[in-house]
Amino acid sequence: MQADYSKMIDPLKLDSLAKVAVKVGLGLEKGQDLVLTAPIVALPFVRRIVAEAYKAGAGVITPIFSDEELTIARFHHASDMSFDRAADWLYEGMAKAYTNGAARLAVSSNNPLLLAGEDPARVARLNKATSIAYQPALEKISGFHINWNIVSYPAPAWASLVFPDLSIVEATRALAEAIFAASRVDNDDPIAAWADHNRQLKKRSTWLNDQRFSAMHFSGPGTDLTIGLADDHEWQSGASIARNGITCNPNIPTEEVFTTPHAYRVEGYVRSTKPLSHQGTLIDGISVRFEKGRVVETYAAKGEAVLNELLDTDEGARRLGEVALVPDSSPISASRLLFYNTLFDENAACHIAFGQCYSKCFRDGVSLNAEEIASRGGNRSFVHVDWMIGSDSIDIDGIRADGSRVFVFRKGEWAI
Ligand code: ZN
Ligand code: ZN
Repeated sequence: MQADYSKMIDPLKLDSLAKVAVKVGLGLEKGQDLVLTAPIVALPFVRRIVAEAYKAGAGVITPIFSDEELTIARFHHASDMSFDRAADWLYEGMAKAYTNGAARLAVSSNNPLLLAGEDPARVARLNKATSIAYQPALEKISGFHINWNIVSYPAPAWASLVFPDLSIVEATRALAEAIFAASRVDNDDPIAAWADHNRQLKKRSTWLNDQRFSAMHFSGPGTDLTIGLADDHEWQSGASIARNGITCNPNIPTEEVFTTPHAYRVEGYVRSTKPLSHQGTLIDGISVRFEKGRVVETYAAKGEAVLNELLDTDEGARRLGEVALVPDSSPISASRLLFYNTLFDENAACHIAFGQCYSKCFRDGVSLNAEEIASRGGNRSFVHVDWMIGSDSIDIDGIRADGSRVFVFRKGEWAI
């Protein structure tokens, strides 16, 4: 029998987080169905979410659970051919649910090192098989056909990595409090706090959109990178209006303002500033060089094999699908915690993503088809992997089409 670490988590704040996930994160509509994916360890949280969602008028809620020990069992006991396969029928069903209007909620609480001891080639094969099977469902999500949300739950294995000096019990409690603070549920009126936060982020994205920069230039230790922006790109932040007309906050927490780079106009080199937890393995000390948008040189102090497998997923995996600005003073960054979870770490630092772009990061993006997005420079890939390049020593200039420059960030903070 395993200890029940969920008892360490403040039940009122967990209720509040469930409410924020349903009301702010999803904006779930009366009668709308919901597909909910979660690790089984998050069951106490899932029960709260489901109750909130039915109270909000949900139609049918379908929970789909995973379990890390079952994943490990596959790596230890499955035949080799298992690693090139995925449950296609399940992902097809998800895509069908989204086509029929269901919302999507994912609870994240992964052990960042779950697969660190496994064969990187097998990890990559399984990721690839899953990504391919998941593509039709992912298109509905990344294309914002539906309202969706990712929110986190403090699992013990994750907590002890973030707080290595604490006991599992204390670490779980500490991670819970860190998640609550970052998700803005540690105050009297979280819904109002989110409305205010969304307004502040919107000011930044509106300013950037008014500038019509053609490129952003990042400079700092180990970094001299010019990221051309896609034609007709649009900066986005916080709340999004999905194609179904529903306003959702896809990431909880969120501190970023982000847009689409041009897949063929990225030049120079860049160094990571935080480790990247990727599908149960850790990649750290990344340094890459781009030519005409493509990664042509790669180095990682840790996890280089996994990084190379990731970049070899398809042609688009070597190009950028996102650039995002986050000041070093963001609350998550100010906590000085390393979460080993991209949902948090990407909101503590400027970041870029290898792979698929977001169609909504274009003017009138929701009405563009895949060819129109590609013709504007939008990247296409089976993967979308964010990694952190921001710090308190990064400077960013916006470059206009006539070559003139505007200070956007100085020493990791907004200069405007
Ligand atoms: Zn991002
Ligand atoms: Zn991203």
